[in-house]
Amino acid sequence: MQYAKSLRYGIFVDAETSNYLQYSQWRLVCPCCNEPVFLVKGSHRPEHARVAPKSKQLVIVREAKVKAFFSHFDNLASEKCENYNKSITEKQIKTYATTSRQQRLKYWQENFLKAIGYYNAGCKSSFFTLFRRTNQHLPDINNKGIKAVQKEVASDLIELLNKADRASILEVARSHLVKLQTHENPLSLMDLGDITDTTEELKDNFLDWTRSFDIEMQLSLVAEVVDFFKTKAIAQIKEEIFELIFARVAVTIGPEKMTPLLKVSTGESEQEQQQKYYQLRSLLVGELVFLIAITDWSS
Ligand SMILES: [Zn+2]
Repeated sequence: MQYAKSLRYGIFVDAETSNYLQYSQWRLVCPCCNEPVFLVKGSHRPEHARVAPKSKQLVIVREAKVKAFFSHFDNLASEKCENYNKSITEKQIKTYATTSRQQRLKYWQENFLKAIGYYNAGCKSSFFTLFRRTNQHLPDINNKGIKAVQKEVASDLIELLNKADRASILEVARSHLVKLQTHENPLSLMDLGDITDTTEELKDNFLDWTRSFDIEMQLSLVAEVVDFFKTKAIAQIKEEIFELIFARVAVTIGPEKMTPLLKVSTGESEQEQQQKYYQLRSLLVGELVFLIAITDWSS
């Protein structure tokens, strides 16, 4: 495909004029299915003469041009997508080793996680550590079991967001943004102790952004990101997203409210346990919408 959408700038990018070195920073996705894409550089071979090996005759080799284009990553490509074109990609992408492509997808996903703040201290293993500590009393608690729980809740969280009405999510996002713009001290809304970066430069950048962003522009980026949460690329990093959201909720509501929600008690009925889980889940999805709304997608 010639054009990709930038989740970062909310614009279309032309493969022909795209800067090869910077494309991964732009968080480019397919305009049709929203899956991440990468740039395949064009090439140009000018007309030239060469000596044929057998006949030793001089032959003219014609000029050949391959236009630059965007391509889906192998394992994310969907034949349902109208931009998925096997005849273009198969021949030209052969030169790109599968491993390097995988690395680029990883880089793409890391870039996305960085934008929402996953790499700050205290996010990784947040659920695992707290769940384990809270449920030490259980005789059969083990790492494998906790990891399975983490995976299930992560899937549930993304699914819940995807099932939610898009217009309602955007309305909630709008109310967060209005609050952010009119708040006396917007930094207090972001103060999450050791799970957010606290360098002065980041604080200043965030404050500058809260004073200058345009709500409609931000909401159009938020809408793009909400659609992006339906992709396979997000499903592959759902556990990281969940860890970040969980860490944020845990800090916001505090340990005295979080611990009872995580505690598996044999004295509770199934209904009581279900209710606790629904409560946790609604806190998580609310935080996810908040985070999507107040992330400066263009920074
Ligand atoms: Zn596509």
